[in-house]
Amino acid sequence: MVMRPSESTAGIRIERVVVGPERVEASVRMGPQVPLRTSAVPGLVDIVVEALPGIVRHRCECGSARGVVAELADTEIPHLLEHVALEIMALSGSPRSLAGSTSWDFSADGRGVFRVALEYDDDLVALAALTEAARIVQKLADGDTRMRHVDAVIEKVRMIRSGGDPGEVS
Ligand SMILES: [Zn+2]
Repeated sequence: MVMRPSESTAGIRIERVVVGPERVEASVRMGPQVPLRTSAVPGLVDIVVEALPGIVRHRCECGSARGVVAELADTEIPHLLEHVALEIMALSGSPRSLAGSTSWDFSADGRGVFRVALEYDDDLVALAALTEAARIVQKLADGDTRMRHVDAVIEKVRMIRSGGDPGEVS
């Protein structure tokens, strides 16, 4: 299944999502005005970890000996987006064993286009987490110093998991 989400942010755009049997894979385009690396935005990772402390427990496929926080402090912005999406999924009830990956092939996909893949237990939850993570990371890259609406985001994604019925208790 291939989807082209109509919703997009000005700088970070999710252009194409392929839902495979185990993973969703998104093409994430970084607009020319968006920095490519987290190290270009001072304090970025501290803000993310404060709002989403579960990220410190993530394992990272990059296998950095420095640990995931140090890794995320100096990595590609879409890689941070991947971890934010995974944490949103976990907080909305997805298993923490789900993994993600971020890769790129600018010669094949175009400069600034990254491939972010997320394993999923619920594909709609993964898609929503990806969209919300892009929005959050975009705001932070624009200089936002707090993640104000993260609880509302988790709640929204939880509702998607439960089928969007506000009256449902699970
Ligand atoms: Zn990682």
